[in-house]
Amino acid sequence: MSETLSRVPIIEGWFTDDIDAPTLIGSKCPACGTYVFPPRTGDCPSPLCESTTLEPTLLSRRGTIWSYTENRYAPPPPYVAADPYQPYALAAVELAAEGLVVLGRVATGILAADLKVGMEMQLELDVSHRDDEHEYIVYVWAPAAPASTAPVASAGGGRS
Ligand SMILES: [Zn+2]
Repeated sequence: MSETLSRVPIIEGWFTDDIDAPTLIGSKCPACGTYVFPPRTGDCPSPLCESTTLEPTLLSRRGTIWSYTENRYAPPPPYVAADPYQPYALAAVELAAEGLVVLGRVATGILAADLKVGMEMQLELDVSHRDDEHEYIVYVWAPAAPASTAPVASAGGGRS
């Protein structure tokens, strides 16, 4: 078991394989600013816009839960289920800046009982499954770390 498996994204082109700051890749209309995920080319989805091009763009790494559910049964192929099957949660996370809702698996070990609508989530990477040569990487939503970079607001605090 000393071999190093090569990391490959389970879906090419949907997210950056950056362990510290994985980011979803969407598309954006250069004319009206409408965002799309998954990324694609072609016509702008806005019925009010006549643009026929979409450009790749990086999306927010954080959002809030719009809805969620839990998969208690293994989905059919091509989904590769862990054996034995482990239930997992799915969350639809709203990216405020883009006005998009992005569906994704929730990080391993976090189930529906741990989630709430409005909860802040951030994008992380997880291993979906492995074969003899590869480790297949999938993006997951994980509860966002408490805002450690932002100072805790105190009542009557002097700084703003
Ligand atoms: Zn447009």
